[in-house]
Amino acid sequence: MERSKTEKSMRWALVGASTIAAQYMIPAIRAQQDARILRVVSGSAERGRTYAAEHGIAASGTDLAEALSDPAVDAVYISTTNEKHLAQAMAAIEAGKHVICEKPLAISVADAVTMVRAAQLAGLVFATNHHLRCSGSHRAIRALIGSGRIGRLLSLRLFHAVHLPAHLQGWRITSAEAGGGVIPDITVHDADVVRFLTGEDPETVVAQTGVSGMGQGVEDSAMSAWSMPSGAMVMTHESFTHPFAGSGLEVHGTEGSIFARGVMTQNPVGEVELVTASGREAVPYDTYDMYEKGVAEFTAAVHGEGRPAASGRDGVKSLAVALTVREAARTGVRQNVNYGGIQ
Ligand code: NDP
Repeated sequence: MERSKTEKSMRWALVGASTIAAQYMIPAIRAQQDARILRVVSGSAERGRTYAAEHGIAASGTDLAEALSDPAVDAVYISTTNEKHLAQAMAAIEAGKHVICEKPLAISVADAVTMVRAAQLAGLVFATNHHLRCSGSHRAIRALIGSGRIGRLLSLRLFHAVHLPAHLQGWRITSAEAGGGVIPDITVHDADVVRFLTGEDPETVVAQTGVSGMGQGVEDSAMSAWSMPSGAMVMTHESFTHPFAGSGLEVHGTEGSIFARGVMTQNPVGEVELVTASGREAVPYDTYDMYEKGVAEFTAAVHGEGRPAASGRDGVKSLAVALTVREAARTGVRQNVNYGGIQ
């Protein structure tokens, strides 16, 4: 039986019987004070039942409208395949629920803008699950850049070529319709990281994509260069096919460079080092679960305190940059990033 809610309570419905919910978001939601997951909605009654049983969720079903009609549900976490996010988010918003939606928000920038504007009009909190901007390492790097320790920003390099684990080698590598490909999957994260660290929106993009062993009808690798309004330059590499490359990023300024290794991950790991004229120093950072932090900041925002770590607007912008990388690669021509009218 539903116990009485406290002031900071949150009752959730999950939309999507997904891996990311199972591995990270269900524990992250349950780590919050007075948070409960009431049900999971799946496209398959049987998968939903099995998933609910495995994860100790009381109810499951295939009827999204029924789930959303439950007045006890305050918020919805959407982690279905990407082509489903738009309709599910619009239904949740129409039902007056706050939303955390997985990245990429949608298949097109126009669809993502539709979702974000609808949530704004309804006065609901809408967040994008860009977990990396919640990590202690990325927050420490951002603070270092902001403090002026590396002087004027010159360039960033992002290394995000990983090996997609076997259990995720499904729609991501075979289905353009479901929003597969490394660009909607990983470039979108890199776009958010760059925006988060620099506070700037990329302006133009040149790019190439490749298929290097996994992609079937979608790219599994991308390299691109972006220009920033300040004149800083960005270089990124994303792939699904690199077992030993490791991830990381570098930020270079006129007075120093930051080298971060192993920090483009789902866990609070990796090393950050600052190099200046005074020498090399390790940069300490707080280690905590970044998904838990994201849910905590979302919950606080719903209760009127602060904003979600990554808003809907951030989700539109990361998608806009990622899709511009794809377009630049397709055309072989430098492209301006079109943010769909979102400021
Ligand atoms: P999954 O493939 O695990 O799940 C996506 C959907 O696939 C589920 O909603 C489910 O549909 C369906 N599904 C799951 N298992 C099966 C199965 N055995 N047979 C048939 N269908 C199945 O995707 P991910 O969890 O990897 O990704 C989901 C979303 O989360 C994507 O938008 C992705 O981009 C995002 N993501 C975000 C991450 C982050 O760190 N922010 C990390 C990983 C993913 P149904 O719900 O209908 O049952």
